[in-house]
Amino acid sequence: MTKRDYYKILGVSKNAGEEEIKKAYRKLALQYHPDRNPGNQEAEEKFKEASEAYEVLRDPEKRDLYDRFGHEGLRGTGFSGFTGFEDIFESFGDIFEDMFGFGAFGDRRKARYEPVQGADLRYDLSIPLRDAAFGKEESIEVEKYVHCETCRSTGVEPGNQPQTCSYCGGRGQVVRTQGFFTMSTTCPKCRGTGTIITHPCKKCHGKGKIKSKKILAVKIPGGVESGMRLRLKGEGEEGERGGPAGDLYVFIHVEPDQFFERDGSTILCEIPITFSRAALGAEIEVPTLYGQEKVQIHAGTQTGETFTIKGAGMPSLHQGRGKGDQVVRVIVRTPARLTKRQEELFRELARLEGEKEKKDDKPFKSFWSKGH
Ligand SMILES: [Zn+2]
Ligand SMILES: [Zn+2]
Repeated sequence: MTKRDYYKILGVSKNAGEEEIKKAYRKLALQYHPDRNPGNQEAEEKFKEASEAYEVLRDPEKRDLYDRFGHEGLRGTGFSGFTGFEDIFESFGDIFEDMFGFGAFGDRRKARYEPVQGADLRYDLSIPLRDAAFGKEESIEVEKYVHCETCRSTGVEPGNQPQTCSYCGGRGQVVRTQGFFTMSTTCPKCRGTGTIITHPCKKCHGKGKIKSKKILAVKIPGGVESGMRLRLKGEGEEGERGGPAGDLYVFIHVEPDQFFERDGSTILCEIPITFSRAALGAEIEVPTLYGQEKVQIHAGTQTGETFTIKGAGMPSLHQGRGKGDQVVRVIVRTPARLTKRQEELFRELARLEGEKEKKDDKPFKSFWSKGH
């Protein structure tokens, strides 16, 4: 878009003096001011255009460059117009006061301190595997800042008034001119608030907020896994200047279980069985998350062999997707201490195995005898 001539925008001649330019801008600024034309796009553009023209023509150096080289001449200065109203008010804060008197259009400072959303909070919650499987409603205690009722978040002790900051005159911003640039920075004394609190609220020590505890109910869905987080909307820190509260994130940690191990939706466990039951086969009882389950193991079960109990695993977080399985690993226990009778039986077993071994050994021997 080609830019219009700055003098034409303000309706002044090329040799107009400082006062004339200021007067012309004042007239346009009053006419197209956003507070007088809310939501009017055309007025907004006119206001920005006039402000840009004035920003250049009020500055002797910029005006000289513009007179000699036109819009092109301003490129090197880094000046490229305004992007929004806030830009304009930041740059012209003092000029507006001078032109219209302070507060002529309501307190524009408010716009500079826009509502801020409260911070998100984190809560770490450890739960046993059983709760992760079945889900649970848990009460948690969260500590967070809430608005101070005593001073209504102003940080000022009731009965006192905050003083206007003498450094920035209450604007919260300090305007500095460096060469071509007009820079606006946050006031170092009041940190942008425009006021100084001489009598801070005793309850919150001038912070405007106090730490407080709140009990919250967290609904843990069945099937959760470690590392998952539940979001409690609006339960984070309160917002500032009317901004919305942040969220609270509950990070789930599923505690290790002494019997069950979990692999996604699969539950793993180990069941010790005796030598004789492994050899003869038996019906064994296996604990599951849902109660005892009777399982038949076949004769000659080896240690480390696994079998599956369908549907005894973790439920899916998505309802209707069913449950995983439970995988049972059998561990054959070698007896460590034998009674006299047991020893007799094992010795007899060993003798039997010895004879059997001789028979079984035959192909082994013949293999070797081949070569002799
Ligand atoms: Zn307070
Ligand atoms: Zn200040």
